[in-house]
Amino acid sequence: MENEYRSTLQNLKLKTTPKRLAILEVLAQESIYLSPEEIWQRMKKRFQKIGLPTIYRNLEELSEGHVLSKVVLPNRQRYYYLCRNQSHHHHFVCLYCRKVEDIHFCGVKEIEEEVRKRIKGRIFSHILQVNGLCSECSRLKRDGHEG
Ligand SMILES: [Zn+2]
Ligand SMILES: [Zn+2]
Ligand SMILES: [Zn+2]
Repeated sequence: MENEYRSTLQNLKLKTTPKRLAILEVLAQESIYLSPEEIWQRMKKRFQKIGLPTIYRNLEELSEGHVLSKVVLPNRQRYYYLCRNQSHHHHFVCLYCRKVEDIHFCGVKEIEEEVRKRIKGRIFSHILQVNGLCSECSRLKRDGHEG
């Protein structure tokens, strides 16, 4: 497990530090997205003196290197998620249970082409995140209203 991350970091030319590896391990144990504060709480078990700014900085570096996915909720709160799928795809995120599902359909290429023609410039990337309730949570919510 640790070797997998080590080579991921090396491929991205990010320095492999014990803290970065520990962050990846923390997130690998979760199937949901976590807030920097939650990651900090888990990291403090191993690095007693680690500060929240260090966590924020490492999370940003890891997401800029595309090792971690950033999840931004409608209230602007940032969360992080470790996805092993390296190919181009997008995420559905459940706002209630924080489950993440990969969406392999990307309809943005056409939009990019439209934009490129219009601005007569160059397009580099796009961000698309679909927010909602997963099937379990939407069922629970509906039952809640009816009961
Ligand atoms: Zn859910
Ligand atoms: Zn994914
Ligand atoms: Zn896309």
